[in-house]
Amino acid sequence: LKEMNARSMWHPMTHPADSHANPPAIITGAAGVRITDIDGHETVDAVGGLWNVNLGFSCQPIKDAIAAQLDVLPYYSTFRGTTNDQVIQLAEELRTFFEPDGLTRAFFTSGGSDSVETALRLARQYHKIRGEAGRTKFLSLKKGYHGTHMGGASVNGNANFRTQYEPLLPGCFHIPAPYTYRNPFKESDPERLAQLCLQALEDEIAFQGAGTIAAFIMEPILGAGGVIPPHASFMPGVREICSRNGILLIADEVITAFGRTGSWSGSRHWGVQPDFMCTAKAITNGYFPFGAVMIAEGVAEVFENDTTGKAAIGHGYTYSGHPVGAAAALACLEETKRLNVPDNAAARGTQLHQGLLELQKKYSLIGDVRGGRGLMCALELVSDQASKTPIDKKTIGALQEATYQAGAMVRVSGPNIILSPPLVLTESDANVILTALDAGFAAVA
Ligand code: PMP
Repeated sequence: LKEMNARSMWHPMTHPADSHANPPAIITGAAGVRITDIDGHETVDAVGGLWNVNLGFSCQPIKDAIAAQLDVLPYYSTFRGTTNDQVIQLAEELRTFFEPDGLTRAFFTSGGSDSVETALRLARQYHKIRGEAGRTKFLSLKKGYHGTHMGGASVNGNANFRTQYEPLLPGCFHIPAPYTYRNPFKESDPERLAQLCLQALEDEIAFQGAGTIAAFIMEPILGAGGVIPPHASFMPGVREICSRNGILLIADEVITAFGRTGSWSGSRHWGVQPDFMCTAKAITNGYFPFGAVMIAEGVAEVFENDTTGKAAIGHGYTYSGHPVGAAAALACLEETKRLNVPDNAAARGTQLHQGLLELQKKYSLIGDVRGGRGLMCALELVSDQASKTPIDKKTIGALQEATYQAGAMVRVSGPNIILSPPLVLTESDANVILTALDAGFAAVA
């Protein structure tokens, strides 16, 4: 299997200097919060699949729901003129989840990149219906990640995810993220930095002309960019600026929805009601590729009350509203509520964050510790604290490997170690992750 993996699988995301991931570990089994590799080595999965396996790998109600649905209606399209009972029930369920966020309609997709693409397209269409066809541009944050499709790649903040694929969508502009550890303003106070970033947004809008901008897209807490929770004033400030300028606000909650941050949505932490909310990942706990774009009541009404004929949606996927995916999502949301995982995410997130701050006292490689909002944490590693020189790939790869050998799978993203374990993590599981990281740092210190 190892030879076949090297010969026939293409692993475009694997960097040759990343010692653990090259070749990538072959995972052969998973149960609870633990995964097992081909050599029989068992670890706590501190990556949580890929931020999505919130309920762990052994969720019987989801397995039962999938099996039952396969016997009744394994597939039917919701693309045009047909729908199914499972997806209707799911839309109702999502409405109850997200009504506090002002989001009442659901459009179904096959994953996060699809959800982002859908929101970008619908934002442009919304303005066209309202007679503002000139609103076509998109703004986003420099550290943001919005998936791999051409629209999502265009609004990705990290140039590494864009430049190889250019030319991308014209009219996409990126403003500085409220990232205290490094920012162009050299500002370390979170509140003042939030104000500076909001001013940068105002300046960009003035420069572009408000009437040319369709939407601003942001993650309520930046995820793949290195887990960066903004100051509490930031997202409300973005909302106010967008509303004042007729710009739609798209919350990319592909990571943050369904409890990861300790709340049902990331936007709710900041008291913000977005116009679109992109979800995917944890909606089926990894059991089925699925996503949903939640749409604000007022935005949906513009489409529904259209008399121009521009609202006809030339948009939908073969697997939109897949009945098996919808059945999986319904069971997943039920379990998420029953186990009250957002509360556990908040408690375990605090424990993990505190433990990481303790590790920082011990290891000078740890330049910045981020977290404190549920089970998403990051360590930004530097080879020198004063100059903040990012750690080299070899050392962080060796650290990842040593941590893995000591019992925890962690994710490396640039100079960051990212932790996003299942939300059903116990106190002792969290301690296993911290102990394994301690051993990992000791091995490379
Ligand atoms: N948006 C965000 C915020 C993400 O983190 C991701 C995936 N990591 C995506 C979009 C893309 O999702 P997918 O990989 O399911 O297409």
